[in-house]
Amino acid sequence: MPVPSGTTRSQRFLLNGYHGQPTAGQVTIHAFDRAQRLQRALGALAKWWGIAVLSVFIPVAHFILVPSFLAYGGWQFFQRLGTVELASDARGTCPDCGAEQVLDLAPRWRTPQPVTCRHCHRGLRLTAPS
Ligand SMILES: [Zn+2]
Repeated sequence: MPVPSGTTRSQRFLLNGYHGQPTAGQVTIHAFDRAQRLQRALGALAKWWGIAVLSVFIPVAHFILVPSFLAYGGWQFFQRLGTVELASDARGTCPDCGAEQVLDLAPRWRTPQPVTCRHCHRGLRLTAPS
């Protein structure tokens, strides 16, 4: 089953630190409609439940692995079902230390959201430009 990539757009954001001017960054956002969300959710469920079925053949460990993969598949299913917008490839410059970097964002796109600088480890705030 092909995984739909959704409608992709590029969005600019602002990074606010403790001091200094806020800096700008860019993120790629994949937007999914209802059918695409269901398809992604079913894809995840099929994958993790498939792994759970294969884990049945691993002696002893299957007591832990099978329920874990079943539960994880269910969790992924509902996560993906609720994910309208997915953020990826976020890049920005830290306003505090000036390091340009790839940012780790929450999978679900939302603003504002907290991010952490990889270099100075300070908490930054990502906001949408007004
Ligand atoms: Zn920094």
